[in-house]
Amino acid sequence: MRLDEPILVAGAGGFIGGHLVRELYLQGHTDITAVDIKPIEDWHQVTVDADSQPNRDLSRLKVARSVTKGKEVVFNLACDMGGMGFIEMNKALCSLNILINTHLLMGAHRADVQRYFYSSSACVYRQDLQDGTIHRPLRETDAYPADPEDGYGWEKLTSERMCRHFNEDFGLQTRVARFHTIYGPEGTWDGGREKVPAALCRKVALAKLTGETQIEVWGDGTQVRSLLYIDDLIAGVLSLTESNFAGPVNIGATETTTVEGLLCMVEEIAGIDPLHRVYDLSKPQGVRERNSDNTVMQGTTGWEPSTSLQEGMERTYAWVFDQVKASL
Ligand code: NAD
Repeated sequence: MRLDEPILVAGAGGFIGGHLVRELYLQGHTDITAVDIKPIEDWHQVTVDADSQPNRDLSRLKVARSVTKGKEVVFNLACDMGGMGFIEMNKALCSLNILINTHLLMGAHRADVQRYFYSSSACVYRQDLQDGTIHRPLRETDAYPADPEDGYGWEKLTSERMCRHFNEDFGLQTRVARFHTIYGPEGTWDGGREKVPAALCRKVALAKLTGETQIEVWGDGTQVRSLLYIDDLIAGVLSLTESNFAGPVNIGATETTTVEGLLCMVEEIAGIDPLHRVYDLSKPQGVRERNSDNTVMQGTTGWEPSTSLQEGMERTYAWVFDQVKASL
């Protein structure tokens, strides 16, 4: 990408969008428009040299057309979403995200945008391959025959296909990545939309600060996940966008852990004695086992993750600890 190319980051007030805007700025990009539906005080990060536009609802065609006008590259990271606790209880809201991608695609096509990146999810994958009986990483072809996560996953799968059709029928250069769970500082860490790494960091930090000795764990702790550090994700998004490969392609970590293993790691980082676990089996737990096969992404772009889980969690815990401390 040229450094003076007009770039739109949709969902820039969110976790990944905020990091992407900052990285683009650090790389020397000079024409970045950052858009989100949230008021600016709720954005996770604001990069001062970007043109930040809060209170913009991208599910509305008029808004999507106006923000894509004159842009050459569009990154769509805007989505009403959260961790399992949110997506399992808010299927209608997750389905409505289709309006955002539809209208941004329409705007991008009309504006003759050169590259359009769409953030899909590992939630598009068939659920029977993630029930804990088949121990292998998910490959891109595993999305079909389709049986994705209800609500959120179906919307992502449909939006992926719409990107492909805009590419095939209109020549819009779309790039689609399926993110596996992403974690790191400057993201959601409380309020019900947080994902497991941030939730465990918050609970352990709270125990450290208050002397609490118990911790609630959603499920039995044996769920398997691969967790990708935010800096590695951003590098992957930029590599894919600059490549000639449309995707959809996995961007995830290949190092796996269980929820219990992650909790032990966070306790060790925090320097706290093991907490008494209270396993709540009534809470949403997601799939039993999920891991990312990155063969296609590595083969087409050369990208691979470089941050170990230990290193990434140390940085994440330190940031979440500061947020919890400031909130008390
Ligand atoms: P996030 O919730 O932190 O950010 C999404 C942002 O989109 C929010 O700031 C939200 O206000 C904004 N948004 C929602 N509706 C909007 C609308 N109508 N108009 C404008 N902005 C709107 O989420 P994130 O973790 O940064 O995720 C970014 C993308 O990556 C999403 O598409 C998500 O589905 C995908 N993804 C994330 C993960 C992960 O682990 N974080 C995993 C898989 C896929």
